[in-house]
Amino acid sequence: MTIARQSAAQLADLFQRERVAMADFLLALAEFDRHRLWLELGYSSLFHFLHRDLGMSKGAAFYRKTAAELVQKFPEVVEPLRDGRLCITTVIELAKVITAENREDVLPRFFHRSKCEAKAVSAALAPEEAPARRQVVTRLRLEEPRPSAVQPVEPLRLVPGESGSVAESRPPVSVSAPWPAPAPAPAPQRDSAEPLTAELRRLHITVSSRFLEKLAAATAALSHTHPGGNAEEILEAGLDLLLERQAKRMGLVKQPREKARPSAPEHVPARVRRAVWKRDGGRCQWPLESGGVCGSTLRVELDHIHPQALGGQSTVGNMRLLCRMHNDLAARRVFGEGWMDRFTQSAGRGSELELPFGAPPAVPRGPLPALPLGT
Ligand SMILES: [Zn+2]
Repeated sequence: MTIARQSAAQLADLFQRERVAMADFLLALAEFDRHRLWLELGYSSLFHFLHRDLGMSKGAAFYRKTAAELVQKFPEVVEPLRDGRLCITTVIELAKVITAENREDVLPRFFHRSKCEAKAVSAALAPEEAPARRQVVTRLRLEEPRPSAVQPVEPLRLVPGESGSVAESRPPVSVSAPWPAPAPAPAPQRDSAEPLTAELRRLHITVSSRFLEKLAAATAALSHTHPGGNAEEILEAGLDLLLERQAKRMGLVKQPREKARPSAPEHVPARVRRAVWKRDGGRCQWPLESGGVCGSTLRVELDHIHPQALGGQSTVGNMRLLCRMHNDLAARRVFGEGWMDRFTQSAGRGSELELPFGAPPAVPRGPLPALPLGT
């Protein structure tokens, strides 16, 4: 046997072991998730556990979380994963379309497919009625190859949807400057809106990383009133505020807004709120079993370490920030499940992902959107 053939045989063996290991990992992960053991370790979701405890990238964690959930619902995917008919990227596409009714017919259609082919299969099985709303952060290539003859691209204007008009499809506005380019400095970026339907537009804007940080901070700050809010919702809320302020200046607002009610019934002094917020950095302080704290910035609330109902004071020393999920968990530990269930519908499957801004690869929000990244 030649050295090349020996090496190939060894590689084939290693590859097979990798698949088996992946299948075993997903089986174990599904079992771990079934018993919600991540909760016991202090994490708010399986995704959070994979990312924080096992140190996976957000993309890798998302793939494995989705696959583990699929394994729980459809155990028959494990064998194809083990023998290589399915791989982790095709599993993501399979998860979008498989149901209890179609499982026998649909599963084999994903065998031996590449990621792209699997996408085509899932799209054919479940064509989208409307273009997906998406939120993608990409890196900008500052130096674009200059085509020899480029017509300057007219920026599309943001106009209200003209119902009835045929939406003219144009390519996304190019960031390359009209030929000849004036200077090596990046050309001024134009915003563009691409018509998708009579009502929907896809907006392409170029922003700084500072902008994304602010957007992430605003998303966290509004996570109570706009839980799971996407960039559109958060930015629209901000624009509403701006417009309202402007209208007030112009004397256009007829009735002054109702005075804001104190948001917390416990009447924690503003001075204490500020100090606790500052000390905790706006992040959930729930201790993790592996050391460190939860650190979530979503739906963060003030919590009395020694509960107020048991005589705890609203002092800086007795207060901390907790995310909604951990605040709920803390209360359950003190007051018991039965008592707390009178106040909350259910603990829910804590699967809220943190916003990925500024941290590529991005993890999309919501159930199983297309993921433009590798593991
Ligand atoms: Zn937390």
